[in-house]
Amino acid sequence: MADLTIHRGTHQIGGGCTEISAGGHRILIDFGANLPGTDGDAQTKDREMVQKVFGSRQDGAVLFTHYHGDHYGLFKKVPPGVPMYIGPLAKNILRILVPYIDRDAPEKGSAIVEQMRTYEPGKWMTPVPGIRVLPLYVDHSALDAYMFCIQAAGKTILFTGDFRNHGIAGQVERMERMVQKYVPKPVDLLVTEGTMLSRTGEVGDTLVRSEEDLGQRAEMLFQTHKYNFVLVSSTNLDSIMEFYHNTPKGMHFVCDLYQARILLTAMRDMQEERGFKEYRASKTHPTIRVLGKGDSRWAELREIRESMKYPVYCKAITKEELERDGFVVLARKNTHPDTYVSPFDKLREEFLDKDGQGQIIYSMWKGYLEEEHADKDLLRFIGGHPYETLHTSGHAYVETIANLIKTVDPKWILPMHTERADEFASILAFTLWKDRVKVLHDGQALDLDEL
Ligand SMILES: [Zn+2]
Repeated sequence: MADLTIHRGTHQIGGGCTEISAGGHRILIDFGANLPGTDGDAQTKDREMVQKVFGSRQDGAVLFTHYHGDHYGLFKKVPPGVPMYIGPLAKNILRILVPYIDRDAPEKGSAIVEQMRTYEPGKWMTPVPGIRVLPLYVDHSALDAYMFCIQAAGKTILFTGDFRNHGIAGQVERMERMVQKYVPKPVDLLVTEGTMLSRTGEVGDTLVRSEEDLGQRAEMLFQTHKYNFVLVSSTNLDSIMEFYHNTPKGMHFVCDLYQARILLTAMRDMQEERGFKEYRASKTHPTIRVLGKGDSRWAELREIRESMKYPVYCKAITKEELERDGFVVLARKNTHPDTYVSPFDKLREEFLDKDGQGQIIYSMWKGYLEEEHADKDLLRFIGGHPYETLHTSGHAYVETIANLIKTVDPKWILPMHTERADEFASILAFTLWKDRVKVLHDGQALDLDEL
């Protein structure tokens, strides 16, 4: 007996977990938390998910597609004894990200991250007997994200995870070539994400088309103001590299120590391991300027720098330099405004309204500023100021999914990580394959033997 069960994620974005079992063994793909602020109203709360997946059995192996919280967020709840796997560069990012997120958490995740095993792109592995998995490195707004090709009970499944093809790793049709080269045919089932199916209106409206377009637009925006505050996720590294490379000459590119550690790790790994030239240091900005003079965490940054084949210089910045030359700063919201004044709050205070020369550039999903998902800390940082929106999606456009279906030519298609699973077959771009679409509900087992 072999089946596939999406425990959560057939009709929602984020918080997913998919089980594939064969011959009494199972793998779990992702074990994500509900998107921030949504757990209270969720159909299945995180607490219930842990119970569903590990309540009656504590076996199997967990494979994370990438480091976004809605895909790995429940990792602390995986029973000891159940191995967890993630991409090698993603693990390096988690080593910095998790202690940062856990600052005030009673339960720390660092030691668990250290125990995570890593898989290798393009190499088959057998995490549990009878189930083989091939991790395929794909473009996404998280670095080092993977699709999985899975073989179990004589069937081949391609599980996309979150993906796109308009970022740095998606250039020159890398995904299509990779799928053609590595995925054995025929593919019995394609499990695809469909985040953008409910966000098509954002394309061309609040979203720019690609990371490259984002860079070009950023350059123009930075030239209009001297003091630029960019609100961007600290791990959305393709966009960050675009902001970095497009910072005008003579102006400083600035971040804090935490962000600098993430950034240098990404520059090291993406350049040295994956050969992406976009992750090299900029010739006009060979030195990244860092907020936090005298902070003890400089030693940790130095350590990363010393591990680089092509070290990037980092140097503390003074208020005089900031004021004199102008800057592009990667800013973050303050989640503890009552007890803590962040360096970004201080800069904001000082420069945002100075001589009409300050501006905020908002480079995150627009939903965080709208009622349903409103993020009060982000809204506080913006403080009613006008802001420029400059963001590209982390997810595949409808035509990108159609292109993947065409390349893979699967027998069956199963949408997940979407709010529009039931409409999938009626979307114009998918007409050709409408009879191959299967829609499940959370917890419903799909018998692989019957595919
Ligand atoms: Zn993601």
